[in-house]
Amino acid sequence: MARRSMRLVEFGKPFQLTKEEVPTAPKGGAVVKTEYAGVCHSDVHLMDGHYPIPLNTVLGHEIAGTVHDIEPGQDLKVGDRVAVHFRCGCGDCSRCEVGERIACLRGVKQDLGSTDDGGFSDYVIIPDVRLLVKEEKLTTAREAGCDGTLMWGKDVDDDTAVTEAKKICGSLGGFAAAIDFVNVAATFERIEKILAEGGMHVLVGLMGVGAPASVPLMPYVMSCHQMASLRVGSLPQLKDLMALVAQGKIKPPPISHHPLENVYDVLVDLKAGKVKGRAVVKL
Ligand SMILES: [Zn+2]
Ligand SMILES: [Zn+2]
Repeated sequence: MARRSMRLVEFGKPFQLTKEEVPTAPKGGAVVKTEYAGVCHSDVHLMDGHYPIPLNTVLGHEIAGTVHDIEPGQDLKVGDRVAVHFRCGCGDCSRCEVGERIACLRGVKQDLGSTDDGGFSDYVIIPDVRLLVKEEKLTTAREAGCDGTLMWGKDVDDDTAVTEAKKICGSLGGFAAAIDFVNVAATFERIEKILAEGGMHVLVGLMGVGAPASVPLMPYVMSCHQMASLRVGSLPQLKDLMALVAQGKIKPPPISHHPLENVYDVLVDLKAGKVKGRAVVKL
């Protein structure tokens, strides 16, 4: 079977479907047959050319699938289900060794889904097997319920969103922490309104479309709120997350599945704020 890839050939333009030979594992690496690839706001920034990446690449950095090819003698074998950490780093410096590949001391900026081909493809070349996290219960995420999820989209006005969120906190009056995966002005304002005194606002990932957002300083200071940011999770954090998912402790947001050929249209919808929950390419 050939390998289909959706390639970014021009910034801001639809991807091009290409067909290639199925790759083989590089030395020390593997080839993963993609099962799922998350469609992320970072991909919107990348496809619009907000960051200097080479053209003709395949986006998609949130990858899960099965090992298709790997050198014998590794901990993993063909057919194992894995999640992929997309930040490669050099793999050998003291930061990379502990999985903090985003902070590679040698400054190696090699990422699957931007500098190197990513998950919007049937197969992904993994340069280093240590980027793979084995997981036998990937289906858990699909099966977990999502009751109790509060929709916070544009169609919910500020007052309703804040009132509904505070209701969940009961007598606590507010949340001890809020993790913001969107990072736009609207989420900044709402989060400042729902955090308890001394609460923590955590920013995950890049700024959302339409940024810059600004922190509402007065409530932030008066309520002793704290802020922290995490651009990309580390390899150990991915392992922890996979363990939590396997234990059924993570309730995912609503997930919609889309065919590979539609990924550009899904990204356009994501950019327009039309995607509720997470959109995932299913191969
Ligand atoms: Zn992402
Ligand atoms: Zn390194």
